[in-house]
Amino acid sequence: MSDFQKPTSSEEFKKNFAQIKPLMDANMAYYESSRCLFCYDAPCVKACPTGIDIPLFIKQINTNNLIGAARTIYSSNYFGHTCGKVCPTEVLCEGACVYNDQNVKPIEIGRLQSHASTFAVQNNIHFFSPQSSNGRKVAVIGAGPAGISCACELSLKGYDVVIFESKAKPSGLALHGTAPYKIENQEVLEEVEYLKRHFSFQVIYESKINSPEEIRRLERDYDAIFLGVGLGSTRATKTPGEDLENCVGATEFIEQLKLNPLDIEIGKNVVVIGGGNTAMDVASESARLGSEVTLLYRRSKAEMGAYDFEYELIRSVGANAIFNTGVIEIEGEQSVESVKCMKTVSKNGKLETVPGSGFTLPCDFLIKATGQSKQTDLFDKMNLDYDNRGKLKVNEYFQCSRPQYFAGGDCVNGGAEVVNACAEGKIAARGIDNWLKKR
Ligand SMILES: Cc1cc2nc3c(=O)[nH]c(=O)nc-3n(C[C@H](O)[C@H](O)[C@H](O)COP(=O)(O)OP(=O)(O)OC[C@H]3O[C@@H](n4cnc5c(N)ncnc54)[C@H](O)[C@@H]3O)c2cc1C
Ligand code: SF4
Repeated sequence: MSDFQKPTSSEEFKKNFAQIKPLMDANMAYYESSRCLFCYDAPCVKACPTGIDIPLFIKQINTNNLIGAARTIYSSNYFGHTCGKVCPTEVLCEGACVYNDQNVKPIEIGRLQSHASTFAVQNNIHFFSPQSSNGRKVAVIGAGPAGISCACELSLKGYDVVIFESKAKPSGLALHGTAPYKIENQEVLEEVEYLKRHFSFQVIYESKINSPEEIRRLERDYDAIFLGVGLGSTRATKTPGEDLENCVGATEFIEQLKLNPLDIEIGKNVVVIGGGNTAMDVASESARLGSEVTLLYRRSKAEMGAYDFEYELIRSVGANAIFNTGVIEIEGEQSVESVKCMKTVSKNGKLETVPGSGFTLPCDFLIKATGQSKQTDLFDKMNLDYDNRGKLKVNEYFQCSRPQYFAGGDCVNGGAEVVNACAEGKIAARGIDNWLKKR
């Protein structure tokens, strides 16, 4: 049972979507930072894809040096604040903290990181001095975490960078995808504004790069091109009834929720299909919108791709989950009225339906969290190689099969976390710099 009523005001929305990692005050940050053992060869650092010197910034917080702490964070990760709030720290830095071995609560690294980075963003503290222009131009396609991280690093090295972004706002899925109870939109946007003030890159919004003419123009006018275009829309499942009203894709639903939280359309009885982290997010979000939620996953709980803590979160807000259940038809006259399901079983790694196990589950809204498509149409227009799963092929410097192109983030890794996109955008920027210097 959902514990929530559908929010009708911003205040009610904020209450239902209260931050799960709220900002610390100075006392809490002091206390928490005092617990750190400042380990040598610290495992938390090794677990961070951007390699932030975690014991150093925790020590700096502990000695009331918030500017130094923020410098430590931002010199490794340009999305220090966003990552502090949205990173799955439970399986990254905090999951690696030595306290876990002693059955003691790990250090709340993410919240400490947000504590220091908020100070820098809100006080507009300046850490970086971009070099003057070296006369070379780089086009970045996509203003998500990968594209913006790449642009920051390149502008530090004196490149003139222009980002082409198809949407009206920056930050990609960090803004349009991450759950509102992890980070508020305003925090994501403020961090990008902060970066834009300190680095000289330009962003051109509502400027989707798609036509062969635009692509040839970029190839002609820019020395290098970085692709940070992420993934595409939710994949079709080819289930009969998928075209009915109120049957929507998870990423499209979440984007609407993030942009128009009070006008979002949802049913009273929501079925979510999927077993990944996006399925958990959308189930939790639907429950917080006051709906009764049932998650259907075709495999067992142990086989879910979602992190355990994400599953615990949906259970804590009253969403129900049924495993080993596949949807074979979505039923309804015009709009979704029910789903026809079959129980499944895994035999030698293959999924089989159990004869005679069919049942019908009434629902008035269905959200498919069954994965996102890849941007292979665009890659074809650019003549770039990708693997059989649609991931761009790159070398260790994130350079694509055509040397003028580099890429990073979800379009290369197939869909990971914000922190991976940040790390890859930065490595690619260094790759671009090395490649252009040799030419
Ligand atoms: C629902 C959901 C929830 C998530 N929650 C979390 C979370 O809690 N924590 C976490 O760490 N990660 C989370 N992720 C993953 C994370 O958001 C992504 O891994 C990360 O944003 C990838 O960054 P990116 O820059 O590669 O791509 P994106 O963030 O997707 O950015 C790509 C950008 O490119 C633009 N673009 C695309 N094509 C074009 C084009 N042709 N021309 C111009 N612009 C274009 C897009 O509009 C977009 O702004 C979530 C993902 C989803 C789907
Ligand atoms: S592993 Fe834990 S205790 Fe050790 S430095 Fe990292 S946060 Fe501090």
